[in-house]
Amino acid sequence: MFKKILIANRGEIALRIQRTCQEMGIKTVVVHSEIDRNTKCVKLADESICIGSNKPIFSYMNIPAIISAAEITNSEAIHPGYGFLSENSNFAECIEKSGFIFIGPNYKSIRMMSNKLSAKQIMNEMNIPCVPGYNKKLSKNPQEIINIARTIGYPVIIKSSGGAGGRGMRVIYNENDIVNAVNITKSESESTFGNSEVYIEKYLKNPRHIEIQILCDKYKNAIWLGERDCSMQRRNQKIIEEAPAIGISRKIIEKIGELCINACKKINYYNAGTFEFLYENENFYFIEMNTRIQVEHPVTEFITGIDIVKEQIRIAAGKKLKYNQKDIKFKGHAIECRINAEDPLNFIPSPGYIKNWHSPGGAGIRIDSHIYSGYHVPSIYDSMIAKIITHGLTREQAICRMKIALSEIIIEGINTNISLHKKIMIDDNFIKGGININYLEQTLSKN
Ligand code: ADP
Repeated sequence: MFKKILIANRGEIALRIQRTCQEMGIKTVVVHSEIDRNTKCVKLADESICIGSNKPIFSYMNIPAIISAAEITNSEAIHPGYGFLSENSNFAECIEKSGFIFIGPNYKSIRMMSNKLSAKQIMNEMNIPCVPGYNKKLSKNPQEIINIARTIGYPVIIKSSGGAGGRGMRVIYNENDIVNAVNITKSESESTFGNSEVYIEKYLKNPRHIEIQILCDKYKNAIWLGERDCSMQRRNQKIIEEAPAIGISRKIIEKIGELCINACKKINYYNAGTFEFLYENENFYFIEMNTRIQVEHPVTEFITGIDIVKEQIRIAAGKKLKYNQKDIKFKGHAIECRINAEDPLNFIPSPGYIKNWHSPGGAGIRIDSHIYSGYHVPSIYDSMIAKIITHGLTREQAICRMKIALSEIIIEGINTNISLHKKIMIDDNFIKGGININYLEQTLSKN
């Protein structure tokens, strides 16, 4: 096993990774930007190195600086967390070629999956059901674009191949708008993601977002750890996730889980990964694969009892998977609320000084957060400051525990979306379960 791991991330996920390293007896090196020198994981690390100024390109996305830090500290492996360079195949390739181990899949797998169009093409070949659409590079010819969209049938969605974070998508309802929309999405994609390639698929009107967590070792052993329902979204960004997804037959889920692990074996995928699907009328439609740990992984950890970060580290170290599919037993129900530093009504980020932080607690309640009283939430990074995850024997109990946690939590000095989460936990349709990806925005627009 590794003796020392470098964590190339910040915030709650850096702390989350560090905790598992400590449990495994592995020393940690935390790299950070100037503004992050007083963060919790830096203070708790065995070693820390400031690698640059606050802008991500100078620090958390600065590949040479991160690799130099690994060299100086004699780290053996690098965990990328999520966001930043976690799905950057060049980063993974540089790490491997510099003699370190990337805690994630092979860079070739990342490269394959980070282009959403090529990921869709591969999944089609692997018999994974995909959103109907035109799975090839779009022609520049306006008439051809019109014909393609007409064949798919409106509404259609134009998506950037390199898109991420809910950006780089445009829904089109009308043939008159299609050519112009393709051109705008292309130029936006070029400026935002450095890749102008876009593709067109059917816009599903009221699907749920259901994803499958997988783990594979380097010897073609693969398991799936159940599904997560991430349909509570605003602007294509998840804010609540839960597992299992209620109202979907176990048979359908098991079938899709099996398809996912078979695909992984065929493409030699290893480490953790998530297959994201839209689910409508009892059908799954693949949208993309995330080749990293995800924000919402704790709900799966709660219902399976498996530490996914620990498995990522074991797999990277060349160990075989400890579990067979038969060993995976699902227990109870888990829910995660993402607490963001933002105005609960207009969603404008609310960075600043936290005067007072009181963390909730109790049975079945897990808090993943890097904040503390006196911490200054910087404006330059993501606004998520905490995750509350609750577990219960039933969904009702998990919701009840979430309500208790939300009532106990105190964050003073900045605005947060806690009041929104409180409203959702008593919303009749959420309690009933099975809401679709448009539900939150439709509900918000009514208030
Ligand atoms: P990103 O990588 O930016 O998160 P995804 O492809 O995972 O993008 O899509 C994010 C969200 O966008 C989905 O969860 C869903 O809400 C919406 N979405 C994506 N594709 C479609 C589609 N074909 N029809 C309807 N909604 C979609």
